[in-house]
Amino acid sequence: MTLERTLSIVKPDAVAKNIIGKIYDRFESVGLTIVACRMTQLSREQAEAFYEVHRQRPFYGELVEYMTSGPVVVQVLEGEDAIQTNRRVMGATNPEEAEPGTIRADFAESVQANAVHGSDGPETARSEIDFFFDEGDVCQR
Ligand code: GDP
Repeated sequence: MTLERTLSIVKPDAVAKNIIGKIYDRFESVGLTIVACRMTQLSREQAEAFYEVHRQRPFYGELVEYMTSGPVVVQVLEGEDAIQTNRRVMGATNPEEAEPGTIRADFAESVQANAVHGSDGPETARSEIDFFFDEGDVCQR
């Protein structure tokens, strides 16, 4: 077990539904600690850059539209195996395939509007944290 950090986003559908607190409760309930957080409205350029890896996918344009449709909340979560712990608590990308009790099973609208983002590995976690936060923004707890 290693202490890790991961980048999480409460996506526009969940912010619009006013369930930021309910989602934070899910993180805290599994021992993840919020060590940085901020609400922000992504620009088109930021959303395109963040999802650059999906540029060739057919849903890329819609994904960028959706991620810029309203504010998001970005946070750094810290904990033992934080990357996989967060992925588990998020559930599968498609809410119809997500395990009962996961954030996406309980709160997602669709495969696109699926409430949360979470980094999928150590390298992406590092680059995604750097995308949104300076080292000084991340607190010791
Ligand atoms: P994640 O790591 O579980 O978020 O999934 P991916 O990295 O595969 O996809 C990134 C995001 O793109 C997802 O969270 C969805 O918001 C969106 N997405 C993925 N697959 C689809 C799809 O088939 N259609 C649409 N419209 N959006 C999708």
